[in-house]
Amino acid sequence: MKKCLLCGQVFVAKVTFVELFSWNKQEAQCICCNCQSKYMRIPDKHCPICFGKLSQDKFCSDCIKWQKIYGQKLLKNHSIYLYNRAFHDLMVNYKRYGDYALHKVLQELCLEDLAKFKADLYVPVPTSPEHLAQRQFDTVSSIYGSLVSLTPVLGKKAGLGAQGEKNRAERLRSAQSFFVKKNFTINFQKCKILLLDDIYTTGRTLYHARDALAEVFPNAKISSFTLCR
Ligand SMILES: [Zn+2]
Ligand SMILES: [Zn+2]
Repeated sequence: MKKCLLCGQVFVAKVTFVELFSWNKQEAQCICCNCQSKYMRIPDKHCPICFGKLSQDKFCSDCIKWQKIYGQKLLKNHSIYLYNRAFHDLMVNYKRYGDYALHKVLQELCLEDLAKFKADLYVPVPTSPEHLAQRQFDTVSSIYGSLVSLTPVLGKKAGLGAQGEKNRAERLRSAQSFFVKKNFTINFQKCKILLLDDIYTTGRTLYHARDALAEVFPNAKISSFTLCR
């Protein structure tokens, strides 16, 4: 018997993918089926580029905008869940109130999907230095760090404000804030890089992260993975 990390209900944990494939064998299901069912998976009919909501066109409205800037060089993104009320609440508690224990819930929600992506390098999108100091943990690395081996090659400049506190227009206008750390000397010119983040909102953050990497590693094949879209 286990106690659900979200609602406190006692439930019988199934022998899941989590236990079979987790690096840490102690990890077991940490939320009950009822809580799990509140997180809605993105429907099969979605934008083929970013998993966003399809408009009349063959892409979503965000990708149509990105196409005007990037042409054929759109970022292929995979997301799992819709950013509904339940996910919003979960992320607010995790990020705004710094409830570190929830990283386990987020791990459980993405583990199975992430296992399907094989990359040479898994690069987390970094938290700003201010947020790191405030929360005392990196929100993205805490989710993915025990699921895959992370290569934290990206850094984020200080003093630029958080994307989460901006409206849509401000997000889209925000300037490049990522850089590739100089002490990384691994030869990964031709490898497959999977960028990891929690939420894909407008795509601005992930495109900036991709651009920073592509500048230094022009031959790498870069795509992204997020929990929500
Ligand atoms: Zn529950
Ligand atoms: Zn799209």
